[in-house]
Amino acid sequence: ATAVTAAALVLTGCGSSEKTIDQRPASADGALVGVTMPTRSSERWIHDGDNIREALEELGYEVDLQYAENDIPTQANQIENQITKGARVLIVASIDGTALTTQLRRAADNDIPVISYDRLIRDSPNVDYYASFDNFEVGVQQATSLLTGLGMIKPDGSPGEATGPFNIELFAGSPDDNNATFFFDGAMSVLSEHIDAGHLVVRSGQTDFRTIAILRWDPATAQRRMEDLLTSTYGGARVDGVLSPYDGLSIGILSALRSSGYGSGDQPYPVVTGQDAEVASVKSIVAGEQYSTIHKDTRELAEVSVRMADAVLKGEEPEVNNTEDYENGEKTVPAFLLEPVIVNKDNYKEVLVDSGYYTADQLR
Ligand code: BGC
Repeated sequence: ATAVTAAALVLTGCGSSEKTIDQRPASADGALVGVTMPTRSSERWIHDGDNIREALEELGYEVDLQYAENDIPTQANQIENQITKGARVLIVASIDGTALTTQLRRAADNDIPVISYDRLIRDSPNVDYYASFDNFEVGVQQATSLLTGLGMIKPDGSPGEATGPFNIELFAGSPDDNNATFFFDGAMSVLSEHIDAGHLVVRSGQTDFRTIAILRWDPATAQRRMEDLLTSTYGGARVDGVLSPYDGLSIGILSALRSSGYGSGDQPYPVVTGQDAEVASVKSIVAGEQYSTIHKDTRELAEVSVRMADAVLKGEEPEVNNTEDYENGEKTVPAFLLEPVIVNKDNYKEVLVDSGYYTADQLR
């Protein structure tokens, strides 16, 4: 390994202030990797961060892992600091996918490759690779499980007995998260024909992405929107299904429904979907409240991003399996996409416990 020089390199001309960058060895050995995650308020990102750190450290890298509690300027500062500290590659799960252009330009000026993690960073040419799940497929699976829960299709995909009409409401994720549109478009690719045929009725009439999107994926905002919908639209009527794109929102939605009398003997909960297989939601599924979630194995995603980082640090080409779908406004970012899995009461043990993702105790 090349010895680390203690001297610092002073750069001028990058904005108004002088930027100091630690000099790191040019070889990959022991290189510093900057990892930024959006928030600790959702368990999935804690798993992601831990898994990435562990895998990088096992390969001998040094890791700077930061969480920004959904505050955009904090995340921008964290990335700035990592560049200053001499990070040789950045793994970024962005809060607002359009807000990091300046930081990424600085990374590029310093030859620091950027791996966009789970969420695509937009409006910057300085995004080198993307590690994620098939986000459109996540939406397809959410809608499919909604239809399965309503009895409109059977688990094997063949038509079910029920034809409706069923009252449903739609929720989408944060409008500044590129994934949110993919989830919604995927779901609508399944639901639209049933809405057009009148088998599914969005009673509130709210089907436009901007109207149903929940900024920063905030559970309390989803709860309020569900409460408002129940008051404004469901006087004497029943809501049969709710398309929810994320477990945190599902919990807020279920809580609004509970306050309105759902979940008791003669008034079962509607079919409520989710995403991330967070512990609280898996427990809710086992208890017969939430209907389903989408499992995205964060161990695998961490591994993909770490393999990408390791490859770029060694001057090799990372493996990708999609070079078409993720256009970020400036370029199409080469991606490696993993497959999501629908989880419900019938298969949660097999998918989540037998695979070692959770212990049976964690779900009790
Ligand atoms: C992720 C989802 C997650 C959501 C809220 C999305 O970008 O892909 O897994 O549910 O953010 O944290």
